Amino acid sequence: MNEATTHDGLRVYRHHIAGRDVAGSDGRTFASINPTTGAPWAVFPDGSAEDVDRAVAAALAAWTSGPWASLGPSKRGRLLMRWGDAISEGAERIAELEVRQNGKLYREMVAQLRVIPDWLYYYGGLADKIEGRVIPLDRPSVLNYTRREPLGVVGVITPWNSPVFLTILACAPALAAGNTVVVKPSEVTPAGVIEVARLAETAGIPAGVVNVVTGLGATGKHLVEHAQVAKISFTGGIESGRKVAAAAGARLAPCTLELGGKSPNIVFDDARLEAAEAGIFAGIFAAGGQTCVAGSRAYIHATIFEDVVGRLVERARKIELGDPMAPETQMGPIATSAQRAKNESMVGRALEQGARLLCGGRRPAIRQFPNGFFFEPTILSNVAHDSELCQNEVFGPVLAVIPFHDEDEVIARANDTAYGLAAGVWTKDLSRAHRMARALAAGTVWVNMYRAMAFNSPFGGYKQSGIGRHNGLEAIDQYLQTKSVWCELSDEVQDPFVLRT
Ligand code: NAD
Repeated sequence: MNEATTHDGLRVYRHHIAGRDVAGSDGRTFASINPTTGAPWAVFPDGSAEDVDRAVAAALAAWTSGPWASLGPSKRGRLLMRWGDAISEGAERIAELEVRQNGKLYREMVAQLRVIPDWLYYYGGLADKIEGRVIPLDRPSVLNYTRREPLGVVGVITPWNSPVFLTILACAPALAAGNTVVVKPSEVTPAGVIEVARLAETAGIPAGVVNVVTGLGATGKHLVEHAQVAKISFTGGIESGRKVAAAAGARLAPCTLELGGKSPNIVFDDARLEAAEAGIFAGIFAAGGQTCVAGSRAYIHATIFEDVVGRLVERARKIELGDPMAPETQMGPIATSAQRAKNESMVGRALEQGARLLCGGRRPAIRQFPNGFFFEPTILSNVAHDSELCQNEVFGPVLAVIPFHDEDEVIARANDTAYGLAAGVWTKDLSRAHRMARALAAGTVWVNMYRAMAFNSPFGGYKQSGIGRHNGLEAIDQYLQTKSVWCELSDEVQDPFVLRT
């Protein structure tokens, strides 16, 4: 669909509610900035409480008496699969929108868009396999069975790093379970999510099942606080996650939280070093480190530390920064100027606290894009264990390299942060690999690989990295509730007030 434009050429987007693109109720808007050029390219409504109310009403109508409720589960599943097909057909167009907003490489975003349908195929296939049970009570005259029922309207709040992907990770199981959704995408990246919501209806999903309200954090807050939103699925930073959990808790609404990480990537001295170095490198510099599972702490055995770090630094200096749409570019800009400022200030404080800068740490001069939010791939050594840089997420291309001497030491260090999203282990020793996998306090542990994910393998955080799981059978459970139904089948009258002699 072609958006209207303002007099200065910015595209004008709207909310997507009940199958229609609608303007915000109070006319307030915000601009989306292209991080490669530093220039605005589109405006979006800054959703008010009234806009959220409208979207929730549409989702509620589609759920309770609307067509989503009356479709059988297998038809619901087939529509989700068709939505997957429509996204697949639009992959290039949507990827281009994503790059324009978050500056990630086009080839990465298009690859991501091409796997997103797998989530809709998997959960579409699960829709008619949601079964209750017959409970074997000790009372033979009573039939007791369970029904697995949807919760109602699910509020989905997502971040900017993989906007459509993370939206579908929440929406696919929620919709397969029979719920309807209101999505509040990141204010940095709403365009692709709006586009994908429109495709839901192109695929035959009834209007009102998938709604999008754009806006800043306050719009998300309205959604979390809305009395008729039965559940929140939130993906984002730990600070916002705490606020969301507190607001949802105030009205006892359940929430799934997928939050940040400070993931350790551990290389033992018996590892296949070429593979380990590639894993460390991609773990922190792919997507400019703007992934929740970024392997931002590399623990490298002391006997190989100098050599491995030397090679990592040499490679990092050669990373080609530039236009994220160009096939030869290896790293695009940071998604926002605020995020780049955060990278700079965290690196600056680490240096003040005694860290040593091995490479990067500055804004590179990119002649083609002088106003883009670029930041060099950065590697620091001498990073103290209890320092901010070792304990807190940067969400950028900043790697701390840390030597270690033995297994116990590295397990203690790796586990000693508030986070627990993911971890990597590189070793040829099978026993050690499994000892480490068991000992690491993380929702995902990769052995001799890094940064893999699949629609059928659970993903989520230990400790403050989150509550609940995306993907696999675990995820659909989080969008269902269980009803226990009791039926007396005998004709006997049960009256506790009548004394039987
Ligand atoms: P963020 O927390 O700033 O924002 C995420 C979303 O929450 C946005 O849509 C924002 O508008 C909204 N929001 C902000 N305050 C809110 C409030 N009080 N109530 C309701 N909604 C609110 O995060 P970000 O900067 O967009 O994304 C980066 C973070 O996301 C990183 O910490 C990253 O690790 C995390 N992340 C986690 C996963 C995962 O699966 N675990 C995946 C991707 C990103």
